[in-house]
Amino acid sequence: MTNEKFKENLLKDDFEDIIGQENVKNQLKSALLMDRHIILVGQPGIGKTTLAKNVAKLMPEKTVCDCSFNCEPHEPLCPECVENKRKKVKITTKTLKGEDMFVRVQGSPDLTAEDLIGDIDPVKAMKYGPLSIEAFTPGKIFKANQGILFFDEVNRCSEKLQNALLQVLEERKITIGSYSFEFDLEFVFIGTMNPDDKSTEPLSDVFLDRFDLIYVEHPASLDQEVEIVLKAGKQMTEFPQKLLFQTVNFVRSLRADADVDRKPSVRASIGLYERAQSNAFLHDRKKVTEQDVQDVIVSVLSHRMTLKPSIKFLKSTDEFIREEYKEYSSRPGDYP
Ligand SMILES: [Zn+2]
Repeated sequence: MTNEKFKENLLKDDFEDIIGQENVKNQLKSALLMDRHIILVGQPGIGKTTLAKNVAKLMPEKTVCDCSFNCEPHEPLCPECVENKRKKVKITTKTLKGEDMFVRVQGSPDLTAEDLIGDIDPVKAMKYGPLSIEAFTPGKIFKANQGILFFDEVNRCSEKLQNALLQVLEERKITIGSYSFEFDLEFVFIGTMNPDDKSTEPLSDVFLDRFDLIYVEHPASLDQEVEIVLKAGKQMTEFPQKLLFQTVNFVRSLRADADVDRKPSVRASIGLYERAQSNAFLHDRKKVTEQDVQDVIVSVLSHRMTLKPSIKFLKSTDEFIREEYKEYSSRPGDYP
């Protein structure tokens, strides 16, 4: 994206919606300054979406055609605008803020090239032309024009779709069936990938060769994670500070545990923070107690983590969490 204003904003901004992650912020900035395609690599729940939304906020306001595809008023490219131009209908415009230009696509093996790129009705194409409003149904990628295409879990897509995406990003070309067109789509591409997701084929080397990967880790310190929890979580009942630090640190200790394979994310910490409060509220307690944390711990944590095979046969995740928490809470910690 050759947008000077966007780059100016980028240099000035500190991504203040994100707590910590200084290295990630720097990597992201330098990649965006060079118009690189980016994939954020990391487990779910560590703020990849928040980061991408923060980038969207830096996009300057834009006046575009009042169509679903945010065409440039001087160079309309969608069927609707092309049709209007042909009929000499006056083009109406709208003004978009940065955050309005954030388009999210969820990667999955079921996502088709038609969903992403578009579809052409061959019969209508013969009669009206392949890019006519009658024949062409544009896909989701067009909605990201002039904005951000946030492609979540891009590694879950089929290879066919990966190739279609590459063609758009690299050659600004789309191919639908036997039709091939050049399209001047302009957007910032930010994909995500969960390195632990083994449910699908890994991304091909050819595909990965076109991207810069930025690794997003769990919050670096307990202080940062508590800050995130307090910022993102709902508040209902008083949560004593020491107990809060202790609770969040328990999630961190599970993350560091050699027996834990898939690790609980910050969402687990936020979940414990919220649920312990509502549990205290239901029991008419003015403050959250250790009992409240214990009451909700399995419900919040057990599906958010998996154990290593070696331990999985000895005990269930529920048992593991209960035992670990019992042991953990019997050790006095040193918290502010
Ligand atoms: Zn348009």
